[in-house]
Amino acid sequence: MARTTENEYKPIDLSRMILDPENRIYFISLTLVNKSGALASFLNILKKHEFNLVGILSESISKKEEIEVSMFLETPTKMNLADLEKLIEKEIDMEKIDVVKKIKIFDHSGWFDEDSFHFPLQVGKVRAVIFPIPVLEGFLVGLRKSLGDEIVQTIVWYQGREIGKNTLETYRKEYGVEGISAVEILKKRALILGWAKMEIVHLDEKEKKAVIKIFDNWECDMFKEKSAPQSHFIRGILSGFFSSLFREDLKGEETRCIAKGDPYCEFILSANKNVKEPRKSNDSLAFEESSKGRWVNQYE
Ligand SMILES: [Zn+2]
Repeated sequence: MARTTENEYKPIDLSRMILDPENRIYFISLTLVNKSGALASFLNILKKHEFNLVGILSESISKKEEIEVSMFLETPTKMNLADLEKLIEKEIDMEKIDVVKKIKIFDHSGWFDEDSFHFPLQVGKVRAVIFPIPVLEGFLVGLRKSLGDEIVQTIVWYQGREIGKNTLETYRKEYGVEGISAVEILKKRALILGWAKMEIVHLDEKEKKAVIKIFDNWECDMFKEKSAPQSHFIRGILSGFFSSLFREDLKGEETRCIAKGDPYCEFILSANKNVKEPRKSNDSLAFEESSKGRWVNQYE
């Protein structure tokens, strides 16, 4: 068996929809008493009738008394919904399984089976929505084509900066964290929510400086073969987050970027006044390329 190493990643498919032209797959929601062996006792029924589990999902681990597990189940032969329900109920009775509190089996919907039961999506107590990358491309790449690079880059930088500040405020309230602990949460959340893999290269609270590497940054992944770094939204988030963390107005500069062929995006957050940031002005939301070939926002 392969052992898990720290830097090994595997994609996860959250589409919750399965192509089923033969109508042999059912989506099932199962509410179980949250105790050891509860799921195993139900899975034994599936094994006995040679049902194949083609997908399983569950709520995040909680301390609740009951837990809901849902699954896509493939029957060995075509079977209608009423027969499947009867069979499972009979087995639960026969095997005296007392851990199943509720079971819902959803009928086929055409060629697909899907989880149309769970809504809305939540991350913790907060509602979340999934935007596939083509939708985000519409927001960023499309908007840049319509309105021009400079104005959109500036707008998203300001949006990001507010989000970064608010994110840290939320961490402070919810987890009571400061300093490296807050940055560690940001790093974990970035990974869990599929935004990017983040690495803290340097963090100095006295010097008020941070260097962050971001691998697979979704924002820059949309842009290819550019001569300059492309992160304005994420750069804004980092600027807002670290400015709030160090309680000083920091500048953020992207020094390496996957959009121009670097292996990762690298950000330097510091109070260095030479790093320019955008300024709010009626007509000068423009950008300039610095002498070092890096994109920085126009400041003065
Ligand atoms: Zn980048």
